[in-house]
Order: sequence, then structure tokens, then C-alpha cells
Amino acid sequence: MAKSRETKTTAKIDKRVEIPRIVTVQQLANLLGVGGVEVVKQLMENGVVAGLNQAIDYDTAAIVAGDLGFEPAEKPELESILPQAESESDEDQQLRPPIVTVMGHIDHGKTRLLDAIRQANVMDTEAGSITQHIGAYQAEVNGRKITFLDTPGHEAFTAMRARGARVTDIAVLVVAADDGVMPQTKEAIAHAKAAGIPIVVALNKMDKPDINLDRVKQQLAENNLLIEEWGGDTICVPVSAKMQKGIPDLLENILIVAELQDLKANPKAPASGVVVEAQLDKTKGPMATALVQNGTLEPGSVIVVGDTWGKIKAMFNDAGKRVKKAEPATPVKILGLGKVPQAGDRFTVVNNDKVAKAWAQKQQEQRQVLSQKPTRALSLDNLFADTPEGQPKELNIVLKTDVQGSIEPIRDSLERLQNDEVKVRIIHSGSGGITEGDVLLALASKAVIMGFQAQPTVGAQRMAEQEGVDIRKYNIIYDLLDDVERAMKGMREPVYAEVIEGHAEIRAIFSSSKFKKAAGVYVTDGKLRRDALVRLMRKGQVIYDGRMSSLKRFKDDVKEVTTGFECGVGIEGYTQYEEGDIIEAYRMERVDEQAH
Ligand code: GDP
Repeated sequence: MAKSRETKTTAKIDKRVEIPRIVTVQQLANLLGVGGVEVVKQLMENGVVAGLNQAIDYDTAAIVAGDLGFEPAEKPELESILPQAESESDEDQQLRPPIVTVMGHIDHGKTRLLDAIRQANVMDTEAGSITQHIGAYQAEVNGRKITFLDTPGHEAFTAMRARGARVTDIAVLVVAADDGVMPQTKEAIAHAKAAGIPIVVALNKMDKPDINLDRVKQQLAENNLLIEEWGGDTICVPVSAKMQKGIPDLLENILIVAELQDLKANPKAPASGVVVEAQLDKTKGPMATALVQNGTLEPGSVIVVGDTWGKIKAMFNDAGKRVKKAEPATPVKILGLGKVPQAGDRFTVVNNDKVAKAWAQKQQEQRQVLSQKPTRALSLDNLFADTPEGQPKELNIVLKTDVQGSIEPIRDSLERLQNDEVKVRIIHSGSGGITEGDVLLALASKAVIMGFQAQPTVGAQRMAEQEGVDIRKYNIIYDLLDDVERAMKGMREPVYAEVIEGHAEIRAIFSSSKFKKAAGVYVTDGKLRRDALVRLMRKGQVIYDGRMSSLKRFKDDVKEVTTGFECGVGIEGYTQYEEGDIIEAYRMERVDEQAH
């Protein structure tokens, strides 16, 4: 009866499973209802070597779950301890100020622009108030607020993003009109685009003589920022940070872009947000600047943040003034935390100290575990494992070359490789060495870095190793394209074929333990393996399809039983065996259509 079926099916079992942010291999196996060894095996296939008691993070666990036919979702953690919102109705959603990051090439005037905006538009103009650098401030124009993160540069922005914090709504790209688009300008564009946030260009240093604006606009266009005047949709505002010129115009335009985004939050919700800056004050203890994203933060609230918690003793605004509340998009410096959190840590208000303490404890344990977790390199081979089935996959690439002239031909060839199933997205390209900024960008955007005759700096190399970012170096264009092509093939929806391994006939039925019935069978052909998939057939009809849960010879668990032997078989989730039923054992094997 050992016929090999030639049905080609795509393994697809629709099973949702919620996985915590950190799980041990064994816990994951339990969640999935499979053996621990199977999870270990799957991990290995994905390049992770881990024992049963080792912890893995959600991303890794999700890949394994996906490979085993599950539909993984991250188990919400912070949300689960949130106090009930007083009201969550849509009516409570109110417009909130946009949160803006200033980016651009060094010396193009980012810091000066932030200062100029602040000087001209600080809200707290009370006599005697001294502006404080707390990591963010709010400006006001025509009675509307804009929140600026005042650590300029795309590195800080992307570092937060790499930690999962989405804070910025709009990027202001500062370009010195006398210098034009420079390498870091291009980086900043790439970083903002990778994050999917709109860019407003501030053409700075307009006070300088000998400015060729058309040249700068042309350069912007070459970098996919087509300004409105030229038929594009990028707003471009000439300013002079030094002379304080054009700033109201810039702010108004930021508000226009914000309006299109319809940024809303619920001030009545329990407060939550992100830490944008934190430090230890010698006299006051841990201090952090909390940027509220939803809800309203008040002194006395108990918050959890990162792996610490605290009851807010006092809050100060960017003018150093004590405040009683902070609404959405408001930055406040807070006092009262147990430890200094990290920039990018999320915070949320909880009901009481007890919940907070338990949470912090758990987070500390998780961080401890995480610090020992095996890293899964983001590599060409596994980048897309977590893309949901059926959706087009994207191969994100940061491309660095030795000379500018190599970028275009490589970009063109790469784009020609893409097809309906797999898109190639070059999120950033540039000439010169591979920098830490490139590694951050790759990390935050799940991209691989490809260096064509370009080497990483020592810092970038170290960071890539620590964070598990794949840097691939090539000297021949053909090799680069070939690598990408292979990776793309590997990213296609896998096609599985069924391979029948053997059959057995049920000759007796017995209860081996209290509840579990098992079947006494005789292997008629092929073999039964302990981790085989099995289907139960009765009178030629398939009655049940599942996995084997036990395989025994006499009282012993065995790995496999071959033709001509008797054994006991249990099937997961099934007990209604009948004498004469046939058990068909099979496995799903990936069919590699592509020759590697
Ligand atoms: P950042 O590196 O982008 O933060 O640049 P800075 O804000 O530190 O500015 C670099 C230099 O350019 C400083 O010497 C500034 O005084 C100068 N600068 C900034 N904005 C302007 C401007 O609008 N006009 C002129 N002439 N100089 C400016």
C-alpha cells in the first residue's frame, strides 16, 4: 500500500498563537503543542542554536511558529497591565501637536535652527524662566503647538526606532543653501523615508552670498525629494537660523503637513509614551524626559518604564517650571523613578505600586535573559521569515559603494531582479565607508548592508556584530546580484510536497493511561516515525489528520518502527480508533524548485 502521493500542497494550517516577548524554547514548544526537540530543530534551520531552557525573543519565536504552520502574534504585555481608560470612545480623540525631529548634514545649522525656533517661540515666557535642555521642547505658532525633539540628527532618531520607539511624525531636513545636499543629508533622507515620515526641507543659511538655489533643488530632486515648485509634494522653506528669518513660515508649513496626518490622541486615556532622555542627577536622583504620546501624565501617577518604575514626585516643563499635567505630545522631565531608564524606553501609567513592582521585576529578569539570548543575525537568508504568508516580501538593502558612479548601475540591476512576490527596496545608497549610522538604519529597517568595494568602519563592524546586522562585502557586481537573486528565490512562498513514509493497520485498541487511548498497530509497509504527521483512514476515507503523540514498543518510547513490527501509536487530539483503521504516516518536504 506504500504509494507515494504526488499532491503538492502548501503547508498551511491556520492557527493563531500568542507568544510573549521572551519565551524559553520549552515554553514555546508547549504553546505550539509540539515537542521541544522540534522547536530546537527549527531554530537550527534558522541559524539559532538554543537549548530547551534557553530564552528566545518574540521575533525568533515567531519565525519558528510560522515555520510550523502557526500564525504568531505578540502577546501584549504593557497593555495588559494598563488601568482601564475612563473612556475610550472616538470622541475623546483630540488633535495633538506634531512631534518633529531635525536632521541634516553636520554644520548645516540644525542646532542653531532649533535654538532659533525656541527663542522666538517658547511658550513659557514668564520672567525669570530659564530654558532647560530636556531633550524636547514645545514651540507655539498661531496658538498651535509643535513639539521638537532637540537632539538633532538621524542617528538619535534611528537609534530610538531600532529600539521600537516610534516618536517622530515629521522630519525637518536642514540643508545649507550654500553647501547643498551632502552625504549626511542623503542619510537623513533615507532614515526618514525608511521610517515612512514626511520631510519638510529647511533651506538654511539664506543670508549667505552666492547661493544657487536651483542647484540645491536639483540635488534634492536627484534624491527623490521633488519640491512643490517643481511639481512634487515636498515643502521647501528658505530660512536663516542666524538671522531668525523664515522661521514662522517653516513652522506654519510643519503644521500644514501635520494637518494632513490627522494626528490624534486621547487625553483621557491612561498616560503612556516614550523616554527621550534620561540621566542621574547627583542631588535629585534619576531624571527622565517623558514624551507623552497618549493620555495625560500627572504627578502622583505610578509609572512603569523600561525595567524600572516609580511614583512621579514632580514634573517640569522645558522652561524648568513645575507643571501639574502633561497632555499628548508634551515633554516633561519627571522625578521619582527608581532607576535611570534608557532613551527609547516606553512608559505607561499603572494602577498601583504593586503592579509596577511586579512589572519591573519581570522586565529585569527578561533583560537579564535577553542579554544571554542567542542572536539571530538579520541576514539575507532569514530576513523575511516573518513576513505574513501571501504578502509580497521586501528585501531592504542599504547599499554602500566606493565611488558614486557604481551606485546607479547596481541599483538598476537590483531593481530589475524584483518580481511580484519579492520587491527590492534600496532604502539608502551612498559612497564611502559603511558607518554606524548605516548599521542603525539597517537594524531599524530590517535591512542587510551591501558594500561594493566599501568597508565598514571599526565601530560599524563591532556594532553590526553586536546587533546581528548582516554586512556583505563584494568586489564584483555579479557576485552581489547573484547573492540577492538567491536570497529572493529563497524568499518565495515555500512549496511543500507530501512524502508518504509508511502505513500501519490498527489491530487492537487500548487505554494506556487514564484518558489517552492508544492503538495497537502492525506496520504493513514503510515505517512509522515518532515525529511523523499521520492521518487516520477508515474505509478509504480520511477521518483525522494530525501528529503522532506517542510511539511505543512494549513499554518503551521509540523513535521509529519498521515494516513487520507491532507497536502502540497515539495521535494528538484523537482517540476514536477502530480496529481495521489504517494509519498513514507522512512528512511535508520543502520542494526546492530553484537550483541553488
Ligand atoms: P549643526 O552641526 O547642523 O547642528 O550646525 P550648527 O547649528 O552647529 O551650525 C554650524 C555653523 O553654521 C555655526 O557656525 C552656525 O553659526 C552657522 N550657521 C547656522 N545657521 C546659519 C545661518 O542661517 N546663516 C549663517 N550664515 N550661518 C549659520
